[in-house]
Amino acid sequence: MNMSDARGARERLVVIGGDAAGMSAASQARRLKGPDRLEIVAFERGHFTSFSACGIPYWVGGDVPDREQLIARTAEEHRARDIDLRMRTEVTEIDPDRGRVRARDLDSGAESWTSYDGLVIATGARPIRPELPGMDAPECTGCRPWTTARPSSTRCPARADGARWSSGPGTSGWRWPRR
Ligand SMILES: Cc1cc2nc3c(=O)[nH]c(=O)nc-3n(C[C@H](O)[C@H](O)[C@H](O)COP(=O)(O)OP(=O)(O)OC[C@H]3O[C@@H](n4cnc5c(N)ncnc54)[C@H](O)[C@@H]3O)c2cc1C
Repeated sequence: MNMSDARGARERLVVIGGDAAGMSAASQARRLKGPDRLEIVAFERGHFTSFSACGIPYWVGGDVPDREQLIARTAEEHRARDIDLRMRTEVTEIDPDRGRVRARDLDSGAESWTSYDGLVIATGARPIRPELPGMDAPECTGCRPWTTARPSSTRCPARADGARWSSGPGTSGWRWPRR
């Protein structure tokens, strides 16, 4: 255990993934127990937290001009509610026997272990990419990179060239052509 892991008599909840599920769990835990009883540490490897992926089609369509507007709650707002949210920090290992996770700061490369009494794994899902001709073209992308990439370097291909198509006629897939 390293020095930063010391936590006194409080319990510690560790959350992996700082988007909808993870930060909902962290916020609910904070509502139930104050900072004197529970420490909450959340790890998010991306640049955004509580990001409304549902709004991405509206950003692509131009109804939402600025991608930052899709952030429902910023990291600072979470921290103000005594949630220790560590952005750009990826959990690389879970050690359930010792009740701890290993995390790497993606900017500095520094690694450390954080012990937990309770653990929430809210790392989301990976989309299936159908095997279609042209799927390897650079313009053909999922939307997740737009939420994890560095904000200033992110470009929206659909907006840039005007031609769009969407695969997957579920709730999300249908919203793109409608924009
Ligand atoms: C275009 C689009 C439109 C949508 N529209 C709707 C809608 O209208 N209504 C609706 O209900 N839902 C909608 N959804 C779905 C909704 O956005 C998802 O259900 C929701 O984001 C899932 O939240 P989650 O926290 O489970 O996972 P995610 O949002 O995927 O979050 C997981 C987080 O975990 C982080 N992470 C992963 N691994 C690690 C690790 N090892 N260490 C640290 N962090 C890690 C990721 O960076 C990510 O931020 C839409 C999704 C998309 C893409």
